[in-house]
Amino acid sequence: MPVLWLSDVDKNDIPVVGGKAANLGELMRIEIPVPDGFVVDARTFRDFISRTGLKDRIYSSLKGLDVENTEELNRVSEEIRRMISEAKIPEEIEAEIRRAYRELGDGKDVFVAIRSSATAEDLPSASFAGQQDTYLNVKGEDNVVEKVKACWGSLFTPRAIYYRVQKGFRHEDVSIAVVVQKMVNSEKSGVMFTSHPVTGEKKCIIEAVFGLGEAIVGGLVTPDTYVYDRVKRTLEDVKIADKKFMIVRKNGNEKVELGEKGKERVLSDDEIKRLVDLGELIEEHYGKPQDVEWAIESGEVYIVQSRPITTIKGAMEKEEVAETGKILLKGLGASPGVATGAVKIVSSERDIGKVREGDILVAVMTTPDMVPAMKRASAIVTDEGGMTCHAAIVSRELGVPAVVGTKNATKVLKDGTFVTVDGEKGIVYLGKLEIAKKEETKFGIAPIITATEVKVNISLPDAAEKVARETNADGVGLFRIEHMILSLEKHPMKFIRDGEIERYVDLIYNEMKKVVKAFYPKTVWIRTIDAPTDEFRAMEGGEEEPIEANPMLGFRGIRRDLAEEMHFRAEMRAIKKLIDEGYKNIGIMLPLIVVPEEIRKAKKIAEEEGIPLDKIEFGIMVETPAAALIIEDLIKEGIDFISLGTNDLTQYTLAVDRNNENVAYLYDEMHPAVMKLIERTIKICKEHGVKTSICGQAGSYPEVVEKLVELGIDSVSANPDMVHKIREVVARVERRIILEKLRNLK
Ligand code: PEP
Ligand code: MG
Repeated sequence: MPVLWLSDVDKNDIPVVGGKAANLGELMRIEIPVPDGFVVDARTFRDFISRTGLKDRIYSSLKGLDVENTEELNRVSEEIRRMISEAKIPEEIEAEIRRAYRELGDGKDVFVAIRSSATAEDLPSASFAGQQDTYLNVKGEDNVVEKVKACWGSLFTPRAIYYRVQKGFRHEDVSIAVVVQKMVNSEKSGVMFTSHPVTGEKKCIIEAVFGLGEAIVGGLVTPDTYVYDRVKRTLEDVKIADKKFMIVRKNGNEKVELGEKGKERVLSDDEIKRLVDLGELIEEHYGKPQDVEWAIESGEVYIVQSRPITTIKGAMEKEEVAETGKILLKGLGASPGVATGAVKIVSSERDIGKVREGDILVAVMTTPDMVPAMKRASAIVTDEGGMTCHAAIVSRELGVPAVVGTKNATKVLKDGTFVTVDGEKGIVYLGKLEIAKKEETKFGIAPIITATEVKVNISLPDAAEKVARETNADGVGLFRIEHMILSLEKHPMKFIRDGEIERYVDLIYNEMKKVVKAFYPKTVWIRTIDAPTDEFRAMEGGEEEPIEANPMLGFRGIRRDLAEEMHFRAEMRAIKKLIDEGYKNIGIMLPLIVVPEEIRKAKKIAEEEGIPLDKIEFGIMVETPAAALIIEDLIKEGIDFISLGTNDLTQYTLAVDRNNENVAYLYDEMHPAVMKLIERTIKICKEHGVKTSICGQAGSYPEVVEKLVELGIDSVSANPDMVHKIREVVARVERRIILEKLRNLK
């Protein structure tokens, strides 16, 4: 059977229909109203390539292909996809797909979504994440057949081929299933958490907009929010937002202004009740709280997608090493969690292929080129680095345990040795030790609303959506754009020298958009580039970076960006494009300010590039003693906020290079000199109505945050893994302050 109806499949069919189709089939079995559809299963693809004679041609062209040779990889990929698109599908297979489509629409041409999902029959649990193609709004038999073929071709994109080789899968073992599902033409749609995503309380949280769900998923419209208490069986809270527009389907998706209607409540009490009932059924079926996408068409509620909520676990559980073992290495615990696996030593980007899912990546220091391997690794261990090095920042964002600054991991550890890494305590043990999970907040519910905002630091745009969902942070207090720029194909100034500034603007605009979209409508403070010469020299075109004795005191931060003015203009143009698209949730933050002129010049250029400084926030980092000591003069230039960069502030105040292990014992963010500068800055900013925040590593230290909340800081920005914890600390201090005030009144 080339085609299976979704209602006929379940989780046992994952190897041939893929996880997505199986999940939808499971929901249908428990009578959840899921839009109807069918799946062209993985066996059909195999049948197609055998009977058209493509099989041998495809696999022989892949044999011996050097995937590191990008040109060759692209050529072979293109050739295979051309063969697939030109081949004629055997008649009865094509007839079957056409028949299923006609049946789906009761003879009418309906809009369908077509999605592919790679599968491996012998490896049902293998993940081929990111290798799915999706086509929305497809209509008509011919188009459906064409898109099914395009999905088949997606099994051979350069990325998919490269990925299989990297992970050691044989191309022949992997096939592809294609789901064709009716699209709901919704008059209302949204998302629902069946339980509270942070505290785990039995409260359904529903967000709703008019029209198609794209508006909410893309973060373009602020939705209504409804909170339903599943224990008391009452609607606890309703927040009606002004929904400026909705998205409707005509030939493609179109935006329609809503005017006064946008201010109306989207869901009736009955609709909320129906959604809650369905949500409870799904949660019960999977045994876990779910994050559900839903839609309503002609009064009927449909469930479009359901997946488990992962945040609750993060907030409630902590991993620990359960036994004592032989300690091989000690370093700094830079990203929490415990993992065991085989050591893979990575000396350069060329080695990243040897890191398989679950291995322990060991390197002198990680680089942006290693990020794909860091994602596969179960833990990361480095020789060098402190809490703010590349490995530390990226692993926290990926949620991978990490130990940095071990000095000699690459010498002590050997390829293939099994080790257990404790990313909290900073210890690497020999062998596979047992890991225990400990419930952290068994008896309490984590407080979620604080007057002091708790934000998050971001540096990997691809991780932004997950971080936004899992931390529920109040915005991004620092978006470090250096890491994303370091992973571009060449040095930023080389783009400019090559006359490709517009291309560069587009590249950084695309990456920035991932973050402002993931957090919309919460504000993202985008920090303009802080590019130390030593880190940028390794990039293609980086040969022209000056060689400096002290890069930390050298050509970096705003001083560099104003000297390389075209670069600063490029950043402003990328930000302007986002603002023009309606993303007003942006702030611009300048790094390493030491004199007022830097702010003046930067503002002038921003204005020349059309940035509406009256509509978005403009601020600076206070990360030099100079900035802290002349803060009054800096405020006079007109700034909306400051953020304390304690990583640099500490190194410059104490004369301790933050990357130098020999003096690391002196590095202390709570040194009285640093604290005095911080106190002074907050006090004076408060007097002038300038918002204050912190985004250095100290913003993730409870003892520092306690002090800052007492000083009246407006927000703190923590690392992704610390947001929940810091929120608890902030809430406790705020309550204590209120209590003390009340007691004093008596
Ligand atoms: C800081 O200096 O504290 C800071 C947040 O900036 P970076 O770590 O990127 O230098
Ligand atoms: Mg800094």
